[in-house]
Amino acid sequence: KQRDPEQTDFQEAVFTVLDSLTPVLEKHPEYIEANLLRRIVEPERVIEFRVPWQDDTGHFQVNRGYRVQFNSAIGPYKGGLRFHPSVNLSTVKFLGFEQVFKNSLTGLPIGGGKGGSDFDPKGKSDSEVMRFCQSFMTELARHIGPDLDVPAGDIGVGGREVGYLFGAYKRLCGFKNGVLTGKNLTFGGSAARTEATGYGLLYYTQSMLKAHNDSLKDKKIKISGSGNVALYALQKANELGATVLTVSDSNGYVYDPNGINDKIVQQIKEVERGRIKEYAQQVDSAQYFEGSVWDQDIDYDIALPCATQNEINAQQAELLVKDGARYIAEGANMPNQTAAIKVYQDHGIYYGPGKAANAGGVAVSALEMSQNSERLSWSFEEVDAKLAQIMHEIFTKSEKAAQEYGMDGNYQAGANIAGFNKVATAMMVQGLV
Ligand code: NDP
Repeated sequence: KQRDPEQTDFQEAVFTVLDSLTPVLEKHPEYIEANLLRRIVEPERVIEFRVPWQDDTGHFQVNRGYRVQFNSAIGPYKGGLRFHPSVNLSTVKFLGFEQVFKNSLTGLPIGGGKGGSDFDPKGKSDSEVMRFCQSFMTELARHIGPDLDVPAGDIGVGGREVGYLFGAYKRLCGFKNGVLTGKNLTFGGSAARTEATGYGLLYYTQSMLKAHNDSLKDKKIKISGSGNVALYALQKANELGATVLTVSDSNGYVYDPNGINDKIVQQIKEVERGRIKEYAQQVDSAQYFEGSVWDQDIDYDIALPCATQNEINAQQAELLVKDGARYIAEGANMPNQTAAIKVYQDHGIYYGPGKAANAGGVAVSALEMSQNSERLSWSFEEVDAKLAQIMHEIFTKSEKAAQEYGMDGNYQAGANIAGFNKVATAMMVQGLV
């Protein structure tokens, strides 16, 4: 806090993890002796750079680019790139820190990193986005590689952006398809990567409900967001027999008591690149409201926040409890403020933290790396089955770790402990790293 007082998102992420680790440190005093916590909260490397680009009117623009290579104890740095005007060093460090433990939880050999820019792709033409991506990669290319650091997408970085970034990398360094994940299927992308975070969230939620002799069938779900994670969470929730009442964007939300139709959302968001309010213009039973979906007072069972960080405050968490929701699983990274999580703990709400519940995306990204290395493409069914298995194991690992340290049902502490243990062991045996 003293070193980087303005990095509040990063501090929040760090203290949430550290809070869970007290019993682990009691059991492993050698971690304190080795100053492990001080080392683990410090990124191995932070890169900040200028991204100059030209807009369609010929004007010169400049944005700021970042890559934080947080921890390579268990594998090459791995984590997405976010393009959004709110991105700053604190955002990228918080996301990178979370990524270290998330990637550890997947059981796959990947370290943690994250990057991005304060560039806003919204409202930009395809050629502006392309020129920006080319300029961004001109600098980033010298810091990444299939065995060094493998970026992917995040908010504002989807298939289009990954394609432009890959094209730019190829011109600079030659064709190495393992250098980025989330690629198009025509040049080394993995089947099911687009769906992976949303589907994985539902597989995780399924495991959480099963642990309480419950299932998704006929459950009423509120989803926030209508981007990549939200869309495929919606699709899988519908497939598994639940009713999704809401989706949203940063302007407002749509509510459909008959259940949101995923095909219509997909057409609006992925094909037309439109706004979510258009859903209510097309579907009679749906209504559009301005503001946050978490202020809507309506009975439901499960909350799946899939938009952005800090979207739920304590008051909104109280409303969630009042409305009868018993489970919450995070599709987004850190969508709940710390005070909101406290509300869940006080009311016995089962809470699945993002580093476990949304790990499906990076898990399939790691599977994309494996396919690139062996120059093979696995079928959608094969990848989807592996994803379901990984998500189930993440839940089980978190559940067991919580039980082992006397915090039964605290899946947040369990995920933090299980994720931390592997990274800590790797760092300890590698000496002073
Ligand atoms: P997208 O850019 O595809 O979608 C983001 C969605 O969230 C949009 O609906 C957007 O609305 C909304 N949103 C963004 N910022 C805000 C805000 N400040 N207030 C309200 N709504 C907002 O991103 P993703 O779906 O990929 O990512 C969503 C979350 O999931 C992020 O937290 C990301 O880090 C996390 N995540 C993503 C993974 C992936 O594989 N994509 C993997 C793991 C986590 P609008 O269009 O109005 O901006």
